[in-house]
Amino acid sequence: DAAGLVVSFGEMLIDFVPTVSGVSLAEAPGFLKAPGGAPANVAIAVARLGGRCAFLGKLGDDEFGRMLAAILRDNGVDDSGVTFDAGARTALAFVTLRADGEREFMFYRNPSADMLLTEAELNLDLVRKICSPEGHGGGEGGGALLSYDPNLRLPLWPSAAEAREQILSIWDAADIIKVSDVELEFLTGTDSVEDEVAMRLWRPSLKLLLVTLGEKGCKYYTKDFHGSVESFTVKQVDTTGAGDAFVGALLGKIIEDQSALQDEKKLRELLRFANACGAITTTKKGAIPSLPNISEAMQLMEG
Ligand code: ADP
Repeated sequence: DAAGLVVSFGEMLIDFVPTVSGVSLAEAPGFLKAPGGAPANVAIAVARLGGRCAFLGKLGDDEFGRMLAAILRDNGVDDSGVTFDAGARTALAFVTLRADGEREFMFYRNPSADMLLTEAELNLDLVRKICSPEGHGGGEGGGALLSYDPNLRLPLWPSAAEAREQILSIWDAADIIKVSDVELEFLTGTDSVEDEVAMRLWRPSLKLLLVTLGEKGCKYYTKDFHGSVESFTVKQVDTTGAGDAFVGALLGKIIEDQSALQDEKKLRELLRFANACGAITTTKKGAIPSLPNISEAMQLMEG
């Protein structure tokens, strides 16, 4: 039974997070080894909140790769779509926390296993399982939905123009797109998150466009309605994984009841939940270790 299954594709890596904030990598007295990578974070966010999730991706056939696969399984994520590359190493990210809790990245990727996943290596049975007879996006509530988060990491792209072009080439295939305020500004070449600017990212094929605004919560746009939902007040320590917790919370719910895409009241409730999950994730260091379970999310929402 593939109903209500979230399948997450892409990178999974180890974040090395300095044990103290506000220092450069060279000054760090030590590092916390935290599993991460946005698609893996999303998968674990879904599972930790009680949803069903599978992860498809490629890891190095090394100590880090085996550690990451075990973390997926331990968190209840189906890892049957994970492959190991004998010739490449698992990706590593060194995440510097600035004094204000924002993060900066440096990557070990030359290239890493996650970048070498080919179409032929995808576990297509797993993909087919989630696709209805109508195919992607088809049918009334029964079709698969494609959600895309560009997760812009500029150092990984040869140029800003190429990043924009490649990211936007996926736009027409997606049902749900989530961008951060920073990504919205980058993709539109502005320094504004006004509705008129966000609407430049709108496509008729989209069902939902989301712009996350950090501590301010998020904005949402559908063909029929748009608005914003405030987040919760928390003590921010490290924002790593906040956007992924937000997406995981949202997808885990939408996959159970797609009517939220047409019902503004339902969608707002769902985004309140997603904001709570994002907010909780900022209160601890690392990505996966700080993703909330359902009772933590409920506790914050009930104040
Ligand atoms: P990303 O992690 O992708 O950069 P954001 O920083 O916008 O994305 O965070 C994603 C979501 O997490 C926000 O929409 C919000 O719901 C929540 N969030 C992030 N930072 C905070 C914060 N300091 N206080 C409350 N909620 C936050």
